[in-house]
Amino acid sequence: MCGIVGVHAPGQEAAGLAALGLFALQHRGQESAGVAVSDGDQVMVYKDLGMVSQVLDERRLPSLRGHMAIAHCRYSTTGSTLWENSQPAFRLGPRRAVAIGHNGNLVNTRELLALLPGGRRQLQGSTDTELLTALLASADGGDLLDVLLATLPKVRGAFALVVMDEHRLLGIRDPWGFRPLVLGRLPHGGPRDEGGWVLASETAGLDVLGAEYVRDVDPGEIVVLGEPGGPRSVRFAEGREHLCVFELIYFARPDSYMLGRNLYEVRRRMGEALARESPAEADLVMPVPDTGGPAAAGFAEASGIPYREGMTRNRYAGRTFIQPSQALRQRGVNVKLSPLPEQLRGRRVVVVDDSIVRGTTTRQIVALLRRAGAREIHLRISAPPIHHPCFYGIDTQVETELIAATHTVEEIRAFVGADSLAYLSIGGVLDAIGLPRERFCFACFDGLYPVPVPYDVTSHKFILEDLPLGDAPVATPP
Ligand code: SF4
Repeated sequence: MCGIVGVHAPGQEAAGLAALGLFALQHRGQESAGVAVSDGDQVMVYKDLGMVSQVLDERRLPSLRGHMAIAHCRYSTTGSTLWENSQPAFRLGPRRAVAIGHNGNLVNTRELLALLPGGRRQLQGSTDTELLTALLASADGGDLLDVLLATLPKVRGAFALVVMDEHRLLGIRDPWGFRPLVLGRLPHGGPRDEGGWVLASETAGLDVLGAEYVRDVDPGEIVVLGEPGGPRSVRFAEGREHLCVFELIYFARPDSYMLGRNLYEVRRRMGEALARESPAEADLVMPVPDTGGPAAAGFAEASGIPYREGMTRNRYAGRTFIQPSQALRQRGVNVKLSPLPEQLRGRRVVVVDDSIVRGTTTRQIVALLRRAGAREIHLRISAPPIHHPCFYGIDTQVETELIAATHTVEEIRAFVGADSLAYLSIGGVLDAIGLPRERFCFACFDGLYPVPVPYDVTSHKFILEDLPLGDAPVATPP
């Protein structure tokens, strides 16, 4: 996933604004955080492993001076959780300095590596983002925009980017529009500041800055900030939106808007559709906190069954799914959730969640509720079963880790220990969103990948770590 922010604000310190915007996107990645700032002459970068508020605190930010900044919080989909892989990626090349914050995942990393003189040896870390940064910094030719126009048509996969050199800040979306990126306008804050412009993964990143939503960055578009006359739009490819439907189901904040839809309302309607498709006899409806909340509210309304909180969540614990390893994820459930036995004892409970990925977290939650006295547990999932891996920026790249790829619904029910289990259909998801299927990527549900995935990408997310140092041969299929 990852959260990205870009701020161009003449007369203001942009690093603090970018960090605040990033704080609103913390849910998109909790492994590392960082900011790159420019005063028009020089780019400085500060980043580290950890949460946004730990890394970009009041001791660091005052020393990061300049009116342009990009910021990034990471959830790894390529490369290990190492400092070297944190972002913004930065490269001081012979012709230009380039800093990049990237949300997404490239699918032709091996081919791109073959374009980099010196190959793998030139990279400190092992992310597709660092590779792209190195390619842009080392490219011959004109300014950063010229180099992007020459390079981006060779890049395949999912990429929402904020890119910066000393002089300009650019927001970019891949031609398939997998990952969101919005443009907003900062208000004038006083006589010395001239307002400014913000790019962010979600509208929640604009709201926290008091910025007004202007529009989405289009698939295949580069938005250039820092030029006289306001943002300039440049196309590097024809684009057609295939927004990741998981953004609407689960990942993005409920107060964010995507494609004109408020995500709380979309999720509430998914819960209503789920109640119509898969009703249950029960005494109460409860969410798996926090992300199951809107769908549980919709289920309760449509079914007439009372809504209750059956668990509380430790609000200082991270989101379970985006912890980087299975060991951490398993501990995370116990740290994160506590049952409320008074609400559960002797009751038949509908438990609404937004996804089952590996099944292990759900199994722990069901066991937790049973120990607290729930008599029956009817699990309802406000998304279809995840049958296929994602190669566009969600860390579900290993098919065998997806329980629905290898188990029937009945087998999953038995594994998690629920009395019944039902998923929302693809049609139910679309009804709740109210937009045509062609606007979205549904590949992890239906296997129809908008960008073909080369066979060697399907190995795993550590592709650059496994390649030998030096020039990378382009792989030939077996
Ligand atoms: S495969 Fe699934 S998770 Fe990945 S971009 Fe498509 S809808 Fe989103």
